Parts: sequence; C-alpha cells; structure tokens
Amino acid sequence: MNCLNEQQLMELLYREGDPENLKKYKKHLSECGKCTEEFLELVEVREYLKGIGEEKQLPIVIVMDRKKEKKIFSRLMLAAASLIFAFSLIFTVYQSHKIQQAEKRIAQTSKQLQKEIEEVSYKTEKTARDNYLLIMGLKNYIDTAIVNRQNTRRASYDKF
Ligand SMILES: [Zn+2]
Repeated sequence: MNCLNEQQLMELLYREGDPENLKKYKKHLSECGKCTEEFLELVEVREYLKGIGEEKQLPIVIVMDRKKEKKIFSRLMLAAASLIFAFSLIFTVYQSHKIQQAEKRIAQTSKQLQKEIEEVSYKTEKTARDNYLLIMGLKNYIDTAIVNRQNTRRASYDKF
C-alpha cells in the first residue's frame, strides 16, 4: 500500500469512512514510520485544538478568575524560584570567592609564619653560636688567667 495522504490520515484520526479502509490504514501505520510520525503530529494538533476549545467553553466567570489567579500565582512562584536560584547561585559564587580569598590569606599567613619561624631559628642558631663563642671565650680567659696566676705565683715563688 502507498503512503497515506492527508485525507486518509484525517479519516483515521476521526475514525471516519470505510472500516475496511481504516484497517488498511492502521496496518500501513504499523509498517511505516513516516506516516506514523505524520499521524502523531495530527493527533497532537487535535489535542491542542481540543484544549483551546475547552478553555473557550468555560462558562463561569469565577472559574476563569480562579484560573487567572492560579496563573498569576504560578508565575509568582516561578519568579520566586528563579530569584531563589539566582540568589543561591550568587551566594555560592560569593562564598567560593570568599573561601578563595580566605585560602589566599591563609596561604600568605602561613608563608609569613614559615618565614618568621625560619628567622627565629636562624636567630636561635646565631644566639647559640654566640653563646658558645662567649663561653669558649670565657673559658679561654679563665684558662689564661689561671695559667697566668700560676705563672705569677711561680714567678713570685721563684723570686724567693
Ligand atoms: Zn507511509
């Protein structure tokens, strides 16, 4: 069977015409993707038109008002949701920026601390060395003084 034309598709859509023909059309649809696609498009259009028809048929004003309210409400909800989303996005970006800054600051501080620690340990080393030298100097002085005194004693003893 050839592909269905628009007339045949419409017949199938509204189940009009010869039942034997409709059977053939259905069988073709089950075999042909292109016609199935066209048929589904027609179904969609029909459903869409049906929806518009129903909306137009609403007879009571209150119901329409309620629908409007609902629409406004949902629009507000959508706006609020987008606002919340935007805020949370900004907040997240702001937070991550803040965290980055804090991390930078911590890194800087720890670097400075390390530098200070190095300086302090250098100073300590230097002080220790100075103390050592001082002590060695004192020891030398004392040693020399003792030797000198012994020498002087000896010398004065020798004088006798
Ligand atoms: Zn076809």
